[in-house]
Amino acid sequence: MERSELSSDDDEEQPRTLAEQLATIVSGQRLRVLIVGGGIAGATLAAALQRHDITAAILERSVDPEADGYMLGLIPLGGNVLHALGLWDAYARESVPIHAYALHDGTGALIRHYPLASITDRFGDWRGVERGRLLDLLLDRVAPVVRGGTVASFMPVAHGLAVTFSDDSTERFDVVIGADGMGSHLRDLLLQVGDISVFDTGWGGYVAWAHADGLDLDVYREAWGPGFGMGMYPVPGRVGLFLGGPNHALSTRSLGEAAHDLRQHLIYGPFARALDQLERNQPAFYWRMADVRADHWVEGRVALLGDAGAGFLPTAGVGASAAMEAAYELAQRLASTKSAGVLDALLAFEARERPRVEQLQRSSRWIGRFMFVESKTLTWARDHAMQHVGLDTVLSDVEQIMSTARLSLRHHA
Ligand SMILES: Cc1cc2nc3c(=O)[nH]c(=O)nc-3n(C[C@H](O)[C@H](O)[C@H](O)COP(=O)(O)OP(=O)(O)OC[C@H]3O[C@@H](n4cnc5c(N)ncnc54)[C@H](O)[C@@H]3O)c2cc1C
Repeated sequence: MERSELSSDDDEEQPRTLAEQLATIVSGQRLRVLIVGGGIAGATLAAALQRHDITAAILERSVDPEADGYMLGLIPLGGNVLHALGLWDAYARESVPIHAYALHDGTGALIRHYPLASITDRFGDWRGVERGRLLDLLLDRVAPVVRGGTVASFMPVAHGLAVTFSDDSTERFDVVIGADGMGSHLRDLLLQVGDISVFDTGWGGYVAWAHADGLDLDVYREAWGPGFGMGMYPVPGRVGLFLGGPNHALSTRSLGEAAHDLRQHLIYGPFARALDQLERNQPAFYWRMADVRADHWVEGRVALLGDAGAGFLPTAGVGASAAMEAAYELAQRLASTKSAGVLDALLAFEARERPRVEQLQRSSRWIGRFMFVESKTLTWARDHAMQHVGLDTVLSDVEQIMSTARLSLRHHA
């Protein structure tokens, strides 16, 4: 028989709507949970719900699972969530332990080397991992992510929400979680303009990769000069780079030009080496250093989670861990409720997590004030002051949050 006879147009399966795909996943679940956004927060929530035998549906806008493949440093807050999810061993294999933070001046000369033992001895490992690898771990035991769509609108119906998707299909859920990141569309659907505030540093930079050859894989290094900065963040086998500066000077430069400019300043050590071996034609993205905050996270049966509720500057390296802790907490609340109790569960989640996440967000903003400096005099004064400032001072909020975490296990490779 000819192949064409086997597959006539009539026999071809119609593509299923988003609603049909998502409904299949939540069919028969005691709580019908829709998670919008399959990033760190959404994936952690799905993994944590699955531990309670609730299979949630994730709807992700991006078609490419490898999109946004950048480096992440997880403080113990995030690592301890992975342990609670039974993912510690796989995480340890996919990540590198970070033992120190090294602060350099605008030439690349070392200002101060901060061992992280004072934190890791008390709270657990600090590790570097690729975002894509972390997502693979979190999504390994949950239902497949439904890709290539988003939510267009939702409205309350008896005992739930009727959600309409970008392909015009509609389905009912008990609860919808907006975990769609810093530029959250769910946040715009849920809140008024006046409920949302943006904090813009005016800086930004390129995120790119360098070969690990000759670079150390257990130290975070940053160099800050007047009007420029560079960071090096290892993961297994390579090092994530951040090449930063004020948007007015940098955003019109290409990655290669930015690297060339920085190389004129950073003449010493690992920074010079990394810039020399940076592949200048690689795909890199320009990241504007602005964050966003929603003044509340819950309305009816919809809640914001992760960067959608409080986005993060990268300055303290805590956004992903904050999102993971909040996702874990939300899963505990949802797992112990029925459909009728969803609003109370969401409000209890917000009451516990929003102050904690906002404290970390404030701390990230405060640290940014010392990094994003254009004046030579202030840069000089900052560099001298930092010789006498301990890590405990810089990370006091982060330590306070870790010391009051519900998951306070300690893990070391
Ligand atoms: C370059 C870079 C480096 C960083 N480094 C660190 C670090 O070292 N340590 C740290 O703790 N944090 C770091 N962060 C911050 C951290 O990545 C975020 O705080 C964390 O990812 C927040 O998780 P999230 O799930 O809320 O957002 P994301 O992980 O951004 O996920 C949001 C998801 O929603 C999807 N989406 C967006 N819009 C829609 C829509 N309309 N419908 C459906 N899906 C949608 C996106 O495609 C994405 O997959 C870094 C961020 C960046 C950009």
